[in-house]
Amino acid sequence: MKIYYIDRRPDKEGVYRIHIQGCPDIPLDRLFLGRFEETAAAISAAKANRSQIKCCETCHT
Ligand SMILES: [Zn+2]
Repeated sequence: MKIYYIDRRPDKEGVYRIHIQGCPDIPLDRLFLGRFEETAAAISAAKANRSQIKCCETCHT
């Protein structure tokens, strides 16, 4: 299981980024998304109430 966070505020294009715990690019203004086995599950959870999601490129390589 990995612990996932998501930006509390979207970027200027309206996109929220998903991070894995330990990523140096997680903003201070973040929300705990949940614990998931796979990133796909974290994306599904995030999409429940957000239209535009991206995985952070630093922690999803
Ligand atoms: Zn990240």
